Amino acid sequence: MVDDRALEAMKQPALGIRDPYFLQVVAEIRAGLRSAFGTANPQTFPIPSSGSGAMESAIANFVRPGSKFAIFAAGHFADRAAIMAARHGAVVAKLEKPWGEIFTEAEADSFIGRERPDVVCFVQAETSTGAYQSGKAIAPIARAAGALVIADTVTSLGAMPVELDEIGIDVTYSCSQKGLSCPAGLSPFSVSPRAWELLVNRQEDGRSWYLDLKLLAQYYDPPHTYHHTPSPPLFYALHEGLAAIEEEGLQARWARHRAAGDQLMGGLEELGFTPLVKNAADRVWHVATVLPPAGVDEAVLRKRLTDRYEIEIAGGLGRLAGKVLRIGVMGPLADPDSVKFLLDSIASCL
Ligand SMILES: *Cc1c(COP(=O)(O)O)cnc(C)c1O
Repeated sequence: MVDDRALEAMKQPALGIRDPYFLQVVAEIRAGLRSAFGTANPQTFPIPSSGSGAMESAIANFVRPGSKFAIFAAGHFADRAAIMAARHGAVVAKLEKPWGEIFTEAEADSFIGRERPDVVCFVQAETSTGAYQSGKAIAPIARAAGALVIADTVTSLGAMPVELDEIGIDVTYSCSQKGLSCPAGLSPFSVSPRAWELLVNRQEDGRSWYLDLKLLAQYYDPPHTYHHTPSPPLFYALHEGLAAIEEEGLQARWARHRAAGDQLMGGLEELGFTPLVKNAADRVWHVATVLPPAGVDEAVLRKRLTDRYEIEIAGGLGRLAGKVLRIGVMGPLADPDSVKFLLDSIASCL
């Protein structure tokens, strides 16, 4: 659900790309993103697309034809990154696990030791399964082996710890419409100084022009060179969404999402739903992924919720389609009253 504050902010005038007020908004967005990402990376800015476009930018800029791309794959979005990397000419090595599980340090160690990859990629909050992998079990091993670390933080940013610098993530992409509660279309991105140096020292151009980080960066820093036309309403919304996070405090916001998630999962278990992710510590707080009680058709339940209460919850993606429900409580919806209303509505539809 988009925060009302963000929607309201979109009514501001659509200014030019070097208007002083617009540049101030851009600078404050970059500062707000650094704080939400937990990074000091100078190269932190939004990409003009939804999360998938930012994913493609990460891959287009850091995967070259012939690069060895090692991906920890236990969900739909990890698979998407693997498909993109292959299209960009990478040699893809996939370590797979059943959906809903996360990877251990021992698994990371043997996979990375065996594959000797140039790039290691993992998904921090796998929205298709509800599993959270901070990256602590992967990033240090990947870095020690000389690989660049790419992390998908599309769903974690703004709702759960991302902590790029502490974990040792080099490149990350996110989105505006999940944990940040803004409209889709402008995706936060961040690159570590060592990854940026690698990019800047590369001789040949990458294959994507629109998603070329070096060209995009030329607008974000002086003299703010034109690259493409930004959408001011999306910048205003993101600016406001980040201001809301700063006012609430990042830790307080994480705590609110965690409490809403615990309340939701507890209530769902009482109603007979089973969490897909067995270990409670490995769950994404704000996306409950559950199997319905025996005899309950997930599609019928979802339709009934929409028809009776105008509540939309998601079904499964990819190989979990028709098998699970994915229920997001993020942003304005991560509060006790909303979760209670949701649980009461589900109970009545059952
Ligand atoms: C939603 C999502 C994406 C794709 O983002 P879009 O904004 O839908 O393009 C990528 N990765 C994860 C983990 C996601 O949840």
